[in-house]
Amino acid sequence: FKKLTFKNVSYRYSEDSKFIFSNLNLSMLQGDKIGIIGASGSGKSTFIDILMGLLNPSKGSILINGKILKNYLNTYFLDSWRGTIGHVPQEIFLTNNTIAENIAFGIDKKYIDINNVKKAAKLAGISNYIEKTEMQYETCFGEDGTKLSGGQKQRVGIARALYNSPQILVLDEATSALDKKTESKVIDSLRDLPESLTIIFISHRESSLKLCNKIYDLDKKVFKNNLDYKNG
Ligand code: ADP
Ligand code: MG
Repeated sequence: FKKLTFKNVSYRYSEDSKFIFSNLNLSMLQGDKIGIIGASGSGKSTFIDILMGLLNPSKGSILINGKILKNYLNTYFLDSWRGTIGHVPQEIFLTNNTIAENIAFGIDKKYIDINNVKKAAKLAGISNYIEKTEMQYETCFGEDGTKLSGGQKQRVGIARALYNSPQILVLDEATSALDKKTESKVIDSLRDLPESLTIIFISHRESSLKLCNKIYDLDKKVFKNNLDYKNG
């Protein structure tokens, strides 16, 4: 994709509830590193669900390269759009399987592309750790990754999102539960991702948006310049 546009987007969960946001107008370009801030409950996750095509705008539309995302006659377009997005949630759940299976999540073991697993792990900054273990990518880190630290688990979540080579990486409060130092290290390793990758970084902590070239404030509905954060 080259350009994603929210055009007069309003959203409410039901006819009789109030709008979470109304008339949002904004654009993102390929390669942008966008921060989304707003208080808890301001609609950040809802915004992402709309962007991913999981929710439909109540009013207005989402355009991808000028083409309306939700077209009931062409669900292929919506499916392929979803396939271009890698999503990292706040809590990564690991199953009691090998780390390769946890990175290539939901893929039958015999179809796992181990080179892709390694590439994703490297980009997420977790490959060194995995490769030091005796079983390497065959290691099981326990039910829900009990043998991993919080920061390592989030890195596995990032590797999982990167496995399918997305064009857009969405981190929804993905580092918010980490202590500031660990968060900062995880964010720094995102700088090594390909420049063409669009990153949408959602946080209620402004300090975690140092990577972003644009910051959209969902409370105020404006883009702000990020120099304040970079220098601060
Ligand atoms: P944020 O991610 O910024 O914390 P959310 O997008 O999760 O905010 O939620 C925005 C608002 O929408 C909140 O008031 C929340 O209670 C409400 N909300 C979220 N999900 C639902 C839902 N499935 N049904 C009804 N209301 C919801
Ligand atoms: Mg949220």
